[in-house]
Amino acid sequence: MVILQNCDNYEYSEVYRNVKEIFDACGGIETIVSPGMKVALKPNLIGRKKPEEAATTHPSIVRAVAELCKEAGGSVMICESPGGVYDKGALRSIYKATGIEEAAELSGAELNYDTSVTKVENPDGMYLKTLEILTPLAGADIVINLAKLKTHGMMVYTGAMKNLFGAIAGVGKAEYHFKMPDYDSFANTVIDIYLSVKPCFNIIDAVEGMHRDGPTAGDPYHAGILMGAADAFELDRVALDMIGAELGRVPMGRMAVARGLMAENVQDIDVRGDVSLKKAEERCRDFVVKYNDGNTRLHFSDGVLGRAMEKMMKPKPVFTKDCRSCGECMRNCPVKAITVEKGKRATADLDKCIRCYCCQELCPFKAVKIKKPLVGRIAGKL
Ligand code: SF4
Ligand code: SF4
Repeated sequence: MVILQNCDNYEYSEVYRNVKEIFDACGGIETIVSPGMKVALKPNLIGRKKPEEAATTHPSIVRAVAELCKEAGGSVMICESPGGVYDKGALRSIYKATGIEEAAELSGAELNYDTSVTKVENPDGMYLKTLEILTPLAGADIVINLAKLKTHGMMVYTGAMKNLFGAIAGVGKAEYHFKMPDYDSFANTVIDIYLSVKPCFNIIDAVEGMHRDGPTAGDPYHAGILMGAADAFELDRVALDMIGAELGRVPMGRMAVARGLMAENVQDIDVRGDVSLKKAEERCRDFVVKYNDGNTRLHFSDGVLGRAMEKMMKPKPVFTKDCRSCGECMRNCPVKAITVEKGKRATADLDKCIRCYCCQELCPFKAVKIKKPLVGRIAGKL
């Protein structure tokens, strides 16, 4: 069951009322949180972004969920490993910029500064039967996932499942990109990571989502909806339907269906709340989803012809005149394909590049664009 609630803005009383409605429709927060329970909240805090940039879960939502958990008797810890450096200083500045520091103060939640990881078993994983995740997530009695509705350069869409990639500490994320450069394997890896944490409840902030060049360089999109479900796969399936994404062209959706985790047909999902699915689709009518077809290494045979086809069709990162040579992309590129010289635009060795678009995601100045070559654009329309 997925709940869709109308929430026109982030005014706190409105957000609190709607978040409570979502939990109530699923049996009430008391059925999830018991007195004394350690609750970890996992928002999307992708970087040092202000709430109005629509790249991160809005602090009003984090505060409302934290207050509800505390009212039910739980202790609450907010934790996230954003992109890039993962240390106390980076966490402090991200909590402050995203408004999460204030949300924690107002709700009485704690902010995580423990950057250690804990090894966990993952029997349901396809590739990852054991892995290391953030210690506060591993040590919590329950995890509540607070995601953001956005497009994503590599995975096309990011919502509930993808938000759990932040359970991997700092540079560990780049290692997964490096080891799983083709999109389907990477999608399965992120699904495995999701399964290793298995949040007991998931909320997506679709009040102001992000479309076009998400997850950080896109434009805010007002859908005015808060969405929630115990099952992240159902929640993401409904979100994909809302934004008009073609399931077969979204790697994590495609893989979740293939693994029997996600319903192929959205009509098989029970959608409730004060916004109908049809209404939600109408509100997202102008949401722009960008696909990356022809971008999976496995689509092409090896050899001269295969490599030539790849080159002609694959979208590539392009560094624009807004580049300020800060080096953030170079430090985080999983395959060390980027060179940055003082006073010059960054450049990438496209033969090394695995098209993960971490450079686009982490550039603080929105100076990385993903460009599709002409052949790739034509092929995408076929
Ligand atoms: S592209 Fe962005 S992240 Fe990379 S050096 Fe330029 S400004 Fe920095
Ligand atoms: S250049 Fe950008 S897209 Fe290519 S591998 Fe490095 S971070 Fe990923």
